[in-house]
Amino acid sequence: MKELPHNTRNTPTRKAILDLFETTNHPLSAVQIHKLLMRINIHANITTVYRELDFLLTNRIIHKIDITGGTTFYESSERDHHHHVICTSCGGIQDVTIKDEENLLFNIQKPRDFTIQRHSLEFYGNCGSCN
Ligand SMILES: [Zn+2]
Ligand SMILES: [Zn+2]
Repeated sequence: MKELPHNTRNTPTRKAILDLFETTNHPLSAVQIHKLLMRINIHANITTVYRELDFLLTNRIIHKIDITGGTTFYESSERDHHHHVICTSCGGIQDVTIKDEENLLFNIQKPRDFTIQRHSLEFYGNCGSCN
């Protein structure tokens, strides 16, 4: 995990949220984080969760995954490059990696003078519990 600015103190809630991002292998929404905190007896209200998420976003410790029209999910900025599968029934989101992605990117037919700097790829379908 990236280091926080020196003048900030980590509250138990912030520590717990950081811990969730480090140990969870899929993106999390504010509501999911709120529920997971309750399970470990941290009763922060949802406003506090959003405030902590804002803090972590500002410090680039996490980033947002914006999926048009859906819930906002967050994930650690430290994770290796990957993509997401999104369940169109429950809105759940999981990580996926593409084997030999470099080769796939090499084969993209792009305008000749265009330099690609980054990309995002999402896959839609039904998850195990919704199938
Ligand atoms: Zn990629
Ligand atoms: Zn689902």
